[in-house]
Amino acid sequence: MTNRREFLKDVAGAAGLVFVGCGSTTAAQSRPAGAAARRPVVVRGRRITTVDMHAHCAVPKATDLLRRPAANQGSDDPLMLEGQALAQRIAAMDAQRIDVSVLSINPNWYDVPRDLASQVITVQNEAMAAFCASHSDRFAAFASVALQFPDLAAQQLEHGMKQLGLRGVAIGGSVAGKELADPVFHPFWAKAEELGAVVFIHPQPAATPDLAGRLRGNGLLTNVIGNPLETTIALSHLIFEGTLDQFPRLKICAAHGGGYLPSYMNRSDHGCVTFPAQCKAGVPKEHPTAYVKRMYYDSLVFTPEALRHLVAEVGASHIVMGTDYPYPWVDAPVDHVLATPGLSDADREAILGHTAMQLLGLPIK
Ligand SMILES: [Zn+2]
Repeated sequence: MTNRREFLKDVAGAAGLVFVGCGSTTAAQSRPAGAAARRPVVVRGRRITTVDMHAHCAVPKATDLLRRPAANQGSDDPLMLEGQALAQRIAAMDAQRIDVSVLSINPNWYDVPRDLASQVITVQNEAMAAFCASHSDRFAAFASVALQFPDLAAQQLEHGMKQLGLRGVAIGGSVAGKELADPVFHPFWAKAEELGAVVFIHPQPAATPDLAGRLRGNGLLTNVIGNPLETTIALSHLIFEGTLDQFPRLKICAAHGGGYLPSYMNRSDHGCVTFPAQCKAGVPKEHPTAYVKRMYYDSLVFTPEALRHLVAEVGASHIVMGTDYPYPWVDAPVDHVLATPGLSDADREAILGHTAMQLLGLPIK
């Protein structure tokens, strides 16, 4: 059997990506002429590694298989991981003072048959693994899985983490109309818990017709309201259906600051007290807020006051940095954290990278 490095070299060739060896100086090589050099982030007199837990990409061969391009796929498409798009991405990371981006692909394959879903995931995970192996100084990646087939998803997650070196898994906020708390997904949650995988939950409200239907019209409400709403619904079901009791060691990280849930979570503690007939006895076992405080959230909440509040609700040790690259929601994610009131240096260090590295198993320098 070939070792992992040889295997990744093979799949890199198959994926049409260039393999240049781990620890390469890709950043310097890829930076466009005239782009700003990296400005290191220093906390307590020490340079720290900053990590962006929320950055998107696409694998053209997979979108070809699906026949539903996630993007234009040209060399200037910012979701791509090669050529000009990669150079621009690295320049943006440097400008934003991001050392490591953790890549994920938003699932658009939850409605396709098993064989096709299997092919798509294989292509994606192998391409992402090969890319990260050849750019390990700047990138890590979450596996994608065919979650509509939970047994297959569990296998894909195990293969992605053990054989390909992927760092956890990214999933949507629901799966073809089913809630993540549906018992059908228990085999997936069991495997994620067993592997100690970070499960990055990123909402996909457009895939939920009854939600998307009311959000039509001006203002991109499917995104600005739909995304945080879907995350709120997904996390709430995981709490209230007992999924997090059944799998207590799950490491869930929710995009966009966890949507609306952490900012109004105390209402969740009072529902079953006020209307006990609406709740199953003993489910969940603890106050809902206890579960909210156990999960992780990215920092994509826009203002120092919003981040201060998130810290007050869930603790600085449960927040990681997120940018949503290449979507230009934020331009100074590190400064956002540094400008948040009330944080200690240890808190800043944790949010900017330390917690993410611990969760992902990345070496802390
Ligand atoms: Zn995103």
